[in-house]
Amino acid sequence: MGKKTTTSVRDLLFGDLWEYAPAPQSTDFVDLDDAYGHYIDGEFVDVGAEDSFQTINPATEEPLADIACADEATVDRAVKAARKAYDTVWSKMPGRERAKYIYRIARMIQEKARNLAVVETMDGGKPIKESRDVDIPLAAAHFFYYAGWADKLDYAFPGAQVRSLGVAGQVIPWNFPLLMAAWKIAPALATGNTIVIKPAETTPLTAMLLAEIIDEAGLPPGVVNIVNGKGETGAAIVNHDDVDKVAFTGSTEVGKIIQRAVAGTGKKLTLELGGKGANIIFDDAPIDQAVEGIVNGIFFNQGHVCCAGSRLLVQENIHEEVIQKLKRRMSTLVVGDPLDKNTDIGAINSREQYERIAELVASGEDEGAEKFQPTCSLPDSGYFFAPTVFTDVTPSHRIAQEEIFGPVLSVLTFRTPEEAIKKANNTPYGLACGIWTDKGSKLFRIAGALKAGVIWGNTYNKFDPSSPFGGYKESGFGREGGVHGLLPYLEVR
Ligand code: NAP
Ligand code: MG
Repeated sequence: MGKKTTTSVRDLLFGDLWEYAPAPQSTDFVDLDDAYGHYIDGEFVDVGAEDSFQTINPATEEPLADIACADEATVDRAVKAARKAYDTVWSKMPGRERAKYIYRIARMIQEKARNLAVVETMDGGKPIKESRDVDIPLAAAHFFYYAGWADKLDYAFPGAQVRSLGVAGQVIPWNFPLLMAAWKIAPALATGNTIVIKPAETTPLTAMLLAEIIDEAGLPPGVVNIVNGKGETGAAIVNHDDVDKVAFTGSTEVGKIIQRAVAGTGKKLTLELGGKGANIIFDDAPIDQAVEGIVNGIFFNQGHVCCAGSRLLVQENIHEEVIQKLKRRMSTLVVGDPLDKNTDIGAINSREQYERIAELVASGEDEGAEKFQPTCSLPDSGYFFAPTVFTDVTPSHRIAQEEIFGPVLSVLTFRTPEEAIKKANNTPYGLACGIWTDKGSKLFRIAGALKAGVIWGNTYNKFDPSSPFGGYKESGFGREGGVHGLLPYLEVR
């Protein structure tokens, strides 16, 4: 204790009294293979001649496994397997039978939760307490929820007849690897579709563990096919002639490429893209709770969250108080080893993402915003970025406009509710917003004026499988979760 050379707010607050002892999560039980191929037609296949790449642990920069990179022929094989499974088994199976498989997957995720959480943290860098308490339980909850719908589709949309689509091609990002797989796979299975899905390049491991679960659950071969690879593999899935539905979560840039590629093909499409969520704090809000909500809104998962509250809009008369309390709270955040159970902010997912964050932070400084980072000692290796807040931000600054996808908050102020609404909506995105006020009527009036798919009242970043999620404008279209999440996978007549 007490070897620090600089004085942080944390030191001033707690002196040497409050230092967390290390609380490392054991990884002894983790048993990863050296290399992973794909899961196609109910088999783990290793396609020898294909290219491969390494997935690393971003907290240590050490390689975890070699991952095969599916080419067009491998994707074709997976789509053919999915088509056969659709035609011969899955589309014919009664919903109550499909439900049993989906329930089984949910229960097995719960049984294997500890291993999944640790591997998720090792592969992606997120704090173990988040993989353990958020990602994995929510992934299981998604399968449970959609298992419940499988035999009730005739009641989901009263008066309409529904039918499955066929083969769903799905591409997911690296920020919530297993959870995004669950968001894609569970509703597609419940509605009677078969699947070819590609995990992100930097986080393929829990998808491979999910393939093992799916295999053990005895799903008929070909119902779920998981192919590893890079962007070209994703493109091969999207562009395959025999795919009926495309579901993508990732960047707006790639989303636009996919929308162009799919246009005119008759493929059904949902896009869940980026965001620049406004977290709006009114002067009648409970400030201490709001500060917790601000922290959760931007520092949860290192800010690698499409619905992050990355623009803080504070009413001008409470700006000073909020910023002071926020800085003090930021100084207590534990940044470092994601496998330590006390860690609040883990590793940035990849070097590429680290560089993107650093570049945008530099632009904030260049454009004249005021940067604050608490004193914290970052590990020597791995990609770590200190929690950052910018004040004196104007709406034209890049850090107010562009998605940073890191632990970086841009603060703007407003005087009236009208100004708050205008500023919140002043973005090409429309994914999420937060509103903090003591007055319910005000909350609902503001919520009605915001152009965002998800709006939280006096909370932030809360997720539930029964609640639909999705965006407007450049944040994409289509909803995942809830009864709405069935629609993208059904033909409704
Ligand atoms: P990305 O390139 O859009 O990646 C998302 C997924 O799409 C990955 O599986 C990726 O494969 C794949 N992909 C890449 N190019 C493709 C193509 N042409 N056709 C089909 N699939 C393709 O996102 P990123 O580069 O990882 O992240 C960049 C930015 O996207 C972030 O800074 C953030 O702003 C945003 N983002 C948003 C979300 C979200 O939840 N909305 C999630 C992640 C990122 P590879 O992994 O091999 O590249
Ligand atoms: Mg990795």
